[in-house]
Amino acid sequence: MRATVMYGAGDVRVETVPDARVIEPTDALVNITRACICGSDLWPYKSMEPSETGRRMGHEFIGLVEAVGPEVRTVRKGDLVVAPFAWSDGTCVFCREGLQTSCLHGGWWGGTELDGGQGEAVRVPQADGTLVVLPVGKDDALMPSLLTLSDVMGTGHHAALAANVGPGKSVAVVGDGAVGLCGVIAARRLGAEQIIILGRHADRIALARDFGATDVVSERGDEAVERVKELTGGLGAHSVLECVGYEQSTLTALSIARPGGAVGRVGVPQDASIPAAQPSFFNNVTIAGGPAPVRAYIEELLPDVLEGRIEPGRVFDRVTDIEGVPDGYRAMDERESIKVMIQF
Ligand SMILES: [Zn+2]
Repeated sequence: MRATVMYGAGDVRVETVPDARVIEPTDALVNITRACICGSDLWPYKSMEPSETGRRMGHEFIGLVEAVGPEVRTVRKGDLVVAPFAWSDGTCVFCREGLQTSCLHGGWWGGTELDGGQGEAVRVPQADGTLVVLPVGKDDALMPSLLTLSDVMGTGHHAALAANVGPGKSVAVVGDGAVGLCGVIAARRLGAEQIIILGRHADRIALARDFGATDVVSERGDEAVERVKELTGGLGAHSVLECVGYEQSTLTALSIARPGGAVGRVGVPQDASIPAAQPSFFNNVTIAGGPAPVRAYIEELLPDVLEGRIEPGRVFDRVTDIEGVPDGYRAMDERESIKVMIQF
């Protein structure tokens, strides 16, 4: 089968790899119908050390179940399923608490041991806990939005929950990538009154406004902090969604939270420490967040997608086949594309 392998920074190849198959009795074999490239895939694309063996890529996908192991109960051959970006058993103490990214028997797609989502098929460990059956056909018009449930929409929702977004609140979203844009959707969905997007790409800002952003701040650094303060009566935002992960974006996020506010972090931190330790301490700012347990959110968000109340699939602005994946990485890295969908 064909699959995406990264060999180092800027070196993404599509290669023929061993066919995925059922190995454990709790596995499912899924033939992928849609997948995508994630902003987080761009971190290794910028920085990965050269590797002889390479690393399989992709953690967002929808596909058709081709086969299941003898212990699988909740999915069967022919089901269309969506997978979250981490797999999990659904039964351990953390899964039962809704924190499937910390599953005691779970893990992450791709790498050197497992199949990734950017390939023709994937072995799904812990299929019962991981997969969610979709009640639509594989070519349904909702497919782009359904695909975002595997990561970016659930991650934006997680940022909003971690930042205590609620009715009547002022919200600032740091980052205008796919997760930030989904954070805007999530903030509106949870009843925020004011939603400020911090970003500077015209196409992304336009989409953010469509999704419910009420204000745009295109300045950076201290000027961005000033602008957000002006827009919030001099106080700062109740809830801040940090959707980037750089030191500068984290500093901005912590600096625009009002006293007693909260920052929900879903951008993978690129530094060992968190900036603004003293101001966030003296302002009693809650700092929360982490990898989103999107598996916990799929059932909650699915009806909103199926009934058309949210359209997170609009973050996809390019479609490719599997052979075009390396160019998709380039396009996203060069900010030519917000997010690339892979159609099989
Ligand atoms: Zn678990």
